[in-house]
Amino acid sequence: MSKNDPQHFYRHLDERLDEARAQGLFKQERVLMSRQGPRVLCDDGVTRINLCANNYLGLSGSETLVQAGIQALKDYGFGLSSVRFICGTQGPHKALEKRLAEFLGTEDAILYAAAFDANGGVFEPLFDADDAIISDELNHASIIDGIRLCKANRYRYKHNDMDDLARQLAAADSHRFKLIVTDGVFSMDGTVAQLDKICALAEQHGALVMIDECHATGFMGDTGRGTHEHHHVMGRVDIITGTLGKALGGAMGGFTAGRRELIETLRQRSRPYLFSNSLAPAIVGTSLAVLDQLTQSSELRDRLHANTAFFRDAIQKLGFTIKPGMHPIVPVMLFEAPLAQRFAQRLYELGVLATGFFYPVVPLGQARVRVQMSAAHSRDDLTQALAAFEQAGSELGILN
Ligand SMILES: *Cc1c(COP(=O)(O)O)cnc(C)c1O
Repeated sequence: MSKNDPQHFYRHLDERLDEARAQGLFKQERVLMSRQGPRVLCDDGVTRINLCANNYLGLSGSETLVQAGIQALKDYGFGLSSVRFICGTQGPHKALEKRLAEFLGTEDAILYAAAFDANGGVFEPLFDADDAIISDELNHASIIDGIRLCKANRYRYKHNDMDDLARQLAAADSHRFKLIVTDGVFSMDGTVAQLDKICALAEQHGALVMIDECHATGFMGDTGRGTHEHHHVMGRVDIITGTLGKALGGAMGGFTAGRRELIETLRQRSRPYLFSNSLAPAIVGTSLAVLDQLTQSSELRDRLHANTAFFRDAIQKLGFTIKPGMHPIVPVMLFEAPLAQRFAQRLYELGVLATGFFYPVVPLGQARVRVQMSAAHSRDDLTQALAAFEQAGSELGILN
């Protein structure tokens, strides 16, 4: 084989994959044979309690939403085969953008195929080399990638550290426009950004504020609007990005919300919007039904928060270390990657689906099993899951 043989490349890939397997860092996909839900049928024929979906409001497998989706399919068809500005905008797309803006308390909103695209397409059209973006170091990968596509000057502040944010704002002072960007809720820890302090600092320094609400829209705050409602700063956040792929039914799709002229600029210039297909009618129609449901009743939010309080309390009483907080993301800390892998595997054998996370998804030495509560979990689901945690924890000698 010559040095330039492409086989070298493929062998290189295989070696890297083998290395990951040998280190216990290989991510194995679990195959489900049922709808998403609090209990799921796995491909070995076993039904397991599911503690690792972003199905916060329990809507992903909902029969009501399936029926709404069927109706939207019948009325508006399967697909659009077009980007929005050519012939890919139907009435429901405009209606959903309006409803999302109302729900979030902004003037307008724009849909994307995913929140990854919303974040990928938000910075470059709005900011250039005269400007500065000041970003929490643990922001989601899609924010990091979006900032990379933009010519603005980059500043990073230590995770959730308001003193460092103030320092970075001072350092960025000479730039024309300044944008602070943070996850509203951080997906690996369930940490809620200190938006009240961030907005105060922003006002002090003449900066704009952007939040990524993927783990907040639909259930954070008194009426589920998100982290800005939770921290009582509605109207003081300039840009909100979020997903339809988590609490709001979990199919796919993302959005950016903000002032009219900002959203109009994105419609003209945001590349993932201009050069990618329209969101499917079934998703759009169903998402409208989701927003109707969420504004009519607080039942799902209430159940989610009750489940979260119950589980956070019970898992600590069993002797596990968790990251403190109030969010339905509950990180159960194992610290070392192979242990997190073994623990997740044992839970799986005991009838519980919960995924191990380790470097590079979380910092080295911070490996964990991340548990996520859902409104759809019954008390019985949670009690049974806790028994499995207790057994696996005592077998592996983890309990405090
Ligand atoms: C899940 C997630 C995204 C990506 O959302 P998609 O709609 O699945 O692309 C972006 N940001 C954060 C913080 C997320 O958790």
